[in-house]
Amino acid sequence: MATEEKKKVGKDNLENKEPKIEEISKKSPAEDKKAEPAVSPEVEESAIEGAVADEGIDLDTIPDAEEVIEAEKPKRARRYDDEDTEVEWSPKTQLGKMVKAGEIGMNEIFSTHHQIRESEIVDFLLPGIEEITMLIGGSPGKGGGIQRRPSRRTVRVHKSGRRTKTSMMTIVGDTKGYLGIGVGKAATNKAARDKSLKNAKLALFPIRKGCGSWECSCGDGHSIPYAIAGKCGSVEVKLMPAPRGLGLCASDEMKKIFQIIGIKDVRLKSRGQTHSRINFIFAIEDALKNINRMKF
Ligand SMILES: [Zn+2]
Repeated sequence: MATEEKKKVGKDNLENKEPKIEEISKKSPAEDKKAEPAVSPEVEESAIEGAVADEGIDLDTIPDAEEVIEAEKPKRARRYDDEDTEVEWSPKTQLGKMVKAGEIGMNEIFSTHHQIRESEIVDFLLPGIEEITMLIGGSPGKGGGIQRRPSRRTVRVHKSGRRTKTSMMTIVGDTKGYLGIGVGKAATNKAARDKSLKNAKLALFPIRKGCGSWECSCGDGHSIPYAIAGKCGSVEVKLMPAPRGLGLCASDEMKKIFQIIGIKDVRLKSRGQTHSRINFIFAIEDALKNINRMKF
């Protein structure tokens, strides 16, 4: 290959000295494309090998270009993670100190009517808790309807222009029967999501599951124990127990709430302005909270 290179170099020199139109026209662009990549890498490698042999360095110690790129990637990720790494939790409230000392569990917190004022309590006691960002925002499309998005943006007009604010909604829960719904508002999406997640953990409440369906009456916790109603704004919802295997009889977005708390069968009936999703979700939360009110 080295000889070919020499020939090519010689040709180039000739062309540079006497630029003939015929020779240039003979060289098609396809040939150039074929020739160049075949020659250049080997030449480079041979050059590197020669240099290495002169200096006496092992080839294995020199990292390839791909390896260098791979080694750089985790560094960037680590740098990003460093900002989010949490220092060890030092509780500020009395309940937080009790939780960290292991004196109280999640069930006792609600049975003794404590209020959770630190989101770390939830992280500590329910490490496997899941979180879902609900699609509360959106932009109207060309053909009508709304393209749903997780962040809802509102604009207020100021002297100097428009000021936007983003609000997001997060639900947290685990299949053992805890649910929390929180809304956060901020200037940016990330700040709003963080706020909503924190608010959701502070708003955690237990859910009583059961099977109140006369079609099933199995006694397991796959549904709710009895029919219950809830309200927020103009939205009124009614939750009804359903037999095993029926599934979630609700809209796709509302199914997420029941999936995260492990309710598999339920019927939902709604009334009012249900396209305002924040009110719809809080109406369902109200209904689920109402289950706990009945004492028996
Ligand atoms: Zn059942």
